[in-house]
Amino acid sequence: MLASPRVGVLGGGQLGRMLMESANRLNIQMNILDADNAPAKQISAHDGHVIGSFTDRASLRKLAESCDVLTTEIEHVDTYALEEVASEVKVSPSWKTIRTIQDKFQQKEYLSQFRIPMAEHRELLKNSVEELTAIGEELGYPLMLKSKTQAYDGRGNYTVKAQADIPSALKALEGRPLYAEKWAKFRMELAVIVVKTKDGVLSFPTVETIQEDSVCKLVYAPARNISESVNKKAQELAKTTVAAFEGHGVFGVEMFLLPDDTLLLCEVACRIHNSGHYTIEACALSQFDVHLRAILDLPIPPKSLELREPAIMLNILGGSTPDSHLKIAERALSIPNAGIHLYSKGAARPGRKMGHITITAPTIHEAEILIQPLIDFMDDTSV
Ligand code: ATP
Ligand code: MG
Ligand code: MG
Repeated sequence: MLASPRVGVLGGGQLGRMLMESANRLNIQMNILDADNAPAKQISAHDGHVIGSFTDRASLRKLAESCDVLTTEIEHVDTYALEEVASEVKVSPSWKTIRTIQDKFQQKEYLSQFRIPMAEHRELLKNSVEELTAIGEELGYPLMLKSKTQAYDGRGNYTVKAQADIPSALKALEGRPLYAEKWAKFRMELAVIVVKTKDGVLSFPTVETIQEDSVCKLVYAPARNISESVNKKAQELAKTTVAAFEGHGVFGVEMFLLPDDTLLLCEVACRIHNSGHYTIEACALSQFDVHLRAILDLPIPPKSLELREPAIMLNILGGSTPDSHLKIAERALSIPNAGIHLYSKGAARPGRKMGHITITAPTIHEAEILIQPLIDFMDDTSV
């Protein structure tokens, strides 16, 4: 433990920053590849960081030279550069996994071999009106047009409500590789954080996520109003999905729960995930703790992944003024059991994730009461 391997991370945003908090507590040196003063670098004073981009081959090679294990906080990285260094340094999860997952269409093609239930989807080869019209006739409306790559926080999604929207949908996602998905008429969205270790897969509880404009707004742990059988099915679906991929570490699995209680996979991320932030306050080990342990082959007691207390997480997004997000954090200072996380990302563009707040309580109902004023404040000021 004391002679811990050096961990290199591609990306130093808020996920890297929270991973750094875990690394610091275990005396693990974590070298970040990102711009100077990236959020993760700000809380770690050593000279092992690399200034550069996680999409730049030379920078990645430089990071690999100073590390024993490489991991990532984002899937949009150069997997060919990772493949090149994989003979010299351990890459967790595997570059193959990242390559498959970073293309959402490839991800679905790959997972269909494992009989994972998903919304029906079709690839676009020409991005033409005629092509999407034919798909619309087949899958019906609304349908979700999606970029295969570089997608996050719904930037890459376009809801096609009717045939008439097709030209504007194609314009909005112009120049990007596309596929279309049948609309999932879900009654709820669920997520499970799964960790893959050398011994198999372990999971955190099933949570409920609420997206607004395709961006995660709230996470309820545990999910409200789902039966034990749905919970079990969600856990199984998440674990089967993650077991299909190579490499160790945390994965975030997003699912749709349909009115008949069946589940569809929405997508999987091969990294620490927004739907798992609640684990910092609500579980003995957080998703960040277990990610580090998984990539370093350290023990993870399954009991430490259980919920100690129900929790609700609220994302703080950049709002109408440059300091809207700070006002929400300020309000949260007076709420009991509120864990406040600000990411120190600099300029707060509207919709940008600037921080989050997790409230724990003996029951989810008590947590709902405590967090409601913050939700109202955010909604009222359209922060
Ligand atoms: P993330 O930030 O989670 O990576 P993303 O940009 O990759 O987001 P998705 O997760 O594919 O986008 O979709 C974002 C949200 O859009 C989903 O959580 C869901 O609310 C909605 N959505 C996506 N696909 C569909 C669908 N087929 N039917 C209905 N709603 C959908
Ligand atoms: Mg995604
Ligand atoms: Mg998603």
